[in-house]
Amino acid sequence: MITILSGGTGTPKLIQGIKRIYDQRKINVIVNTLENDYFSGVYVAADIDTVIYTFADLINDETWYGLKYDTFITHEKLSELNSPELLKIGDKDRALKIQKTQLLKDYSLSKTVDIQRKNLNIKAKIIPMSNEKSQIKVVTDIGDLEFHQFLIAKKSEPKVKNIIFNKVKPSEEVIITIEKADMVIIGPSNPITSILPIISMKDVEKALKKAYVVAVSPIIGNNPVSGPAGKFMNALGYEVSAYGVASIYSSFLNKFIIDKEDIKFRKKIGKIVNEVEIANTKMTNINTKVELAKLILDK
Ligand code: GDP
Repeated sequence: MITILSGGTGTPKLIQGIKRIYDQRKINVIVNTLENDYFSGVYVAADIDTVIYTFADLINDETWYGLKYDTFITHEKLSELNSPELLKIGDKDRALKIQKTQLLKDYSLSKTVDIQRKNLNIKAKIIPMSNEKSQIKVVTDIGDLEFHQFLIAKKSEPKVKNIIFNKVKPSEEVIITIEKADMVIIGPSNPITSILPIISMKDVEKALKKAYVVAVSPIIGNNPVSGPAGKFMNALGYEVSAYGVASIYSSFLNKFIIDKEDIKFRKKIGKIVNEVEIANTKMTNINTKVELAKLILDK
């Protein structure tokens, strides 16, 4: 049994590889909920939806957001009506988000996600990191911004000075699924806004210290493969490199997988992590995803 910690882009790519070679019934995924909020009247849990769609083979894996082959009739109509949406929500994607919003009236987020994944015949367990609402603020040179304001409206352009989020309580299954796992995999996700929110919750680090934990670096050279991870790491005083990521996870990490372009960091990282492995971590097609998955699972 394995437990994966995930955000909504890098780790889902790896999940596409893992699910080809590993029994889905033995996979648990603890997913970041930091950015969850209501938009256009519906509850948006972007990372959870991406993980759900990845397991259901429905994900738009060009944008890593929403469903492939979706239409945007409602989104466009709202613009025509002078109510443009901040998030571009597809029509079929919106149906799942409406369902989630309705279910949340009667159930916790954990139960809601469990109902949805079963409806889609997903055998893996998808566990929201928390059932509580997070507050996140991006402190920038143009003022404090909501996460999606920074990411979408401001296109991640402002200079980031700090990232502030509150601690939330882990959902019921988080600790137990880490404790029970033969291996915990931290995929190449944003260490600041996808993984740190999970590992900073009460008792998670303690559980990780007792588990066998493997992580993949989302940073190659001095840049993330995509997204604002570099800006966020920099703002919190971490070196933007595989070493910087390793320093965030070093208290519980058994093995760190870095890209073949980063051999130069091997020795330095070896001083803070037990085992460092070099691999091609650029997941550009299904073969590279499966290769990386095999390397991780063949402990
Ligand atoms: P978010 O929720 O959309 O921010 O997504 P994640 O946190 O799951 O993933 C974002 C991180 O994935 C970024 O820091 C990227 O650098 C990293 N990433 C995306 N694709 C790849 C890849 O193919 N290889 C590696 N090593 N990292 C990747």
